[in-house]
Amino acid sequence: MARYELVKRSVALITLTNPPVNALSSAVRHAIAKSMEHALNDPKVKAVVICGENGRFCGGADIREFAGPLRGPPLVPLLDAIEAGEKPVVAAIEGVALGGGFELALVCHYRIVHFKARLGLPEVTLGILPAAGGTQRLPRLIGIPAALELITTGRHISAQEALKLGIVDQVTEQNACELAVEFALRAVAKPLSSRRVSMLTTPCPPDLDALLEAVTMQVKRKARGVMAPLACIQAVRAAATMPYSKGIKRESELMATLFNSGQARALQYCFFAQRTAGKWTLPSGAQWNNSKPREIRSAAIIGLGTMGRGIVVSLARVGISVIAVESEKKLLETGKQMVIGMLERDAKRRGVSASLNLLKFTLSLQDLKDVDLVIEAVFEDMALKKRVFQELSKVCRPATLLCTNTSGLDVDALAGVTDRPHLVVGMHFFSPAHVMKLLEVVCGPRSSSETIATAMSLGKRMGKVSVAVGNCPGFVGNRMLKPYLDQATFLLEEGATPEQIDKALEDFGFAMGVFRMSDLAGLDVGWRVRKESGLIGPDVDPKNPPRRRQGRRYCPIPDMVCEQGRFGQKTGRGWYMYDKPGGTNAKPDPLIQNLLEMYRSRYGIQPRNISDQEIIERCLFALANEGFRILEDGIAARPEDIDVIYLFGYGFPRHGGGPMFYASMVGLERVLERLEHYHQAHPDVPHLEPSPLLKKLVACGSPPVQKWREHIKTMHSHL
Ligand code: NAD
Repeated sequence: MARYELVKRSVALITLTNPPVNALSSAVRHAIAKSMEHALNDPKVKAVVICGENGRFCGGADIREFAGPLRGPPLVPLLDAIEAGEKPVVAAIEGVALGGGFELALVCHYRIVHFKARLGLPEVTLGILPAAGGTQRLPRLIGIPAALELITTGRHISAQEALKLGIVDQVTEQNACELAVEFALRAVAKPLSSRRVSMLTTPCPPDLDALLEAVTMQVKRKARGVMAPLACIQAVRAAATMPYSKGIKRESELMATLFNSGQARALQYCFFAQRTAGKWTLPSGAQWNNSKPREIRSAAIIGLGTMGRGIVVSLARVGISVIAVESEKKLLETGKQMVIGMLERDAKRRGVSASLNLLKFTLSLQDLKDVDLVIEAVFEDMALKKRVFQELSKVCRPATLLCTNTSGLDVDALAGVTDRPHLVVGMHFFSPAHVMKLLEVVCGPRSSSETIATAMSLGKRMGKVSVAVGNCPGFVGNRMLKPYLDQATFLLEEGATPEQIDKALEDFGFAMGVFRMSDLAGLDVGWRVRKESGLIGPDVDPKNPPRRRQGRRYCPIPDMVCEQGRFGQKTGRGWYMYDKPGGTNAKPDPLIQNLLEMYRSRYGIQPRNISDQEIIERCLFALANEGFRILEDGIAARPEDIDVIYLFGYGFPRHGGGPMFYASMVGLERVLERLEHYHQAHPDVPHLEPSPLLKKLVACGSPPVQKWREHIKTMHSHL
């Protein structure tokens, strides 16, 4: 767990050896303690260098150990002892120095860093704080404003930035370890007192309170309801106002509160869920680690609308040449200008040159003969998509993969009109496609494992979090969205306003409330889907009572909004009003208020006061309930996949863990009881009827999320 060597006859070289990132597990802490003791007691040793094996200094604590009781030496006294030692200790930082690894570097008397290394204190992103002295030493070293920024955001910094901030002593392009040994030899004769960071006085700005207040407001705005960054601010305040010995106690108290919080559990769950999400398996046994993806060098996008443009940008910026196809000259020209603008802005932001030479724009599908992969992004219209797929099947070489960006149509039906159903797969991006991280890879029953592997790996290359899902209307994300949206509109009927519902959801932590989100996505998309599925238009049975469709409760308010040409931000009007078409500043619209009042009086609905608790329970428990059904149906392989989809595609707050984790945190019994209650009150809403899997899990004693899979008897797994 740590190798000890004597080099240059007088330098103890301690190499952490815990792959992959040399995390500070109990065994590693133990090995460091023993090695340091040896080094400090051996008269031959004049200085110490600490480095990590395989070019990685240290990635921090071993998060897997968080669940159990503390074993091995605690980190704070261990680090304090390194700093207090009488022999100079130099950290040789290569790869990463993160979290506890960064705190280890801070107790060393000197820090030498390889120019490619990254440093940071990401604890806040896991719902905790740097509790091995990080909140006390960093402000002493670089001052309050810079330390606050790094600790409250968890941002990683480059070696160059670390040098500029005064965190490290030297950046090198050579072997950091060899240089650190030379450095250590030179440091032997120098006094150490000024190198012990905990002994320094924190440089304190005169307006400390105002500064801390401003940062608190900023944090509250950015991360609504999140505890960890606020606790970080309090810890940094202690570094400014208390001696180290007291400050470190304050840090530890704050950590104790955070460590046992639901938010920390949720954030740590998200960390692991994201890692498992890429690991897909098919009933055939083919899976992520035994299926080889194809290499994709060229791609084509059909349709340069909202989605097509973002997909082109995402492909071109990772070096894939793209042919973009539109149906009309004018639309092609508009799309082209938009894509070029987006790529240029993106390149400027990243400090690289825009890869415009990779792009080609055309009106003819004939130009797609040789591409490796096509992504179709035309209107959400099955007949149109089928025509496009038939045409592609004729034009493209037999090995070309054909993908669709449909939001929820049957991927297998599209596969069925081609000459290569095994090469057809859904690649469901989210809007705006060059920004949003999520990609649902929709596996049709005939998609080959190579096709799925290729779509997953292409997603990864494009910087997406890719999740494999089964083929059913709406797949995972949009299928679950339906009951969530339904509840929101039923609540409107019953007396709530879009602002009230959005506020309750945003206070819960959603990036955007449901109505604001719908305005951003465009209300016409859902309208088109409802028309296609016969919920509006000539197919509606005239004998249906007005607020019922296909045997269940139906709220026609969204259709009434669309009938007025209010499609959301793009038309400057939707559930809210905006300054102009394309505007983003949502203001409550009295016309919507009138529409709701007229609607309620037309149907004799007596509006009632609706509590925020009811809004959260009805929206979120209906959402999770559909998630349980999706698991039962084998459309998602595990609850973690559903949660990752909601975290990265739908703005679910990370500190809530995602809808499935949230349900488990609330307690499955409680969720079941509330769903039963609401279903009784609204028997014509099947989505409120508790799913069999939820009932089964409660009957089995509500096991933790990670154990649900054992209880899912998949009737017909699609994954
Ligand atoms: P859009 O209306 O903005 O763009 C569709 C584009 O396709 C238009 O520019 C149109 O001219 C073009 N087009 C139509 N027929 C064509 C043809 N035969 N050949 C070439 N181009 C053609 O629509 P969008 O929002 O970009 O959606 C595209 C697809 O992506 C839909 O299937 C939609 O469901 C899906 N999707 C949309 C979103 C979203 O938030 N907008 C999110 C995920 C998926």
